[in-house]
Amino acid sequence: MLCACGCGHRVSLLVPDSHQVTEQVGMATVRPSIAVCDAPCKSHYFITAGEVEWLRAFDPATSKAVMHKQIERHAQRDPTRLPFLQRVLAALGRAWTWLASFGPPR
Ligand SMILES: [Zn+2]
Repeated sequence: MLCACGCGHRVSLLVPDSHQVTEQVGMATVRPSIAVCDAPCKSHYFITAGEVEWLRAFDPATSKAVMHKQIERHAQRDPTRLPFLQRVLAALGRAWTWLASFGPPR
């Protein structure tokens, strides 16, 4: 969606990761508030049944913290973590092979 202030910035909502979009009488309601941290306008607003409800803009420190949190959340889902898991599974597999080489217990 485009920023409600009209600056033309494309706001990407991370649905349903951070935002819930519900419908009321055909109009969208977005919760929690939308903070446009990565555009010069720094808009911050609620959308309730298609109506924009303006909130105080975050100060630079807060908007930075919000951005950081979002990036962190994405990093946690980073698929580059998968090779680590695969290495652990491979190590477990090798350990199992090593144990099995002693033969079944008598
Ligand atoms: Zn804007």
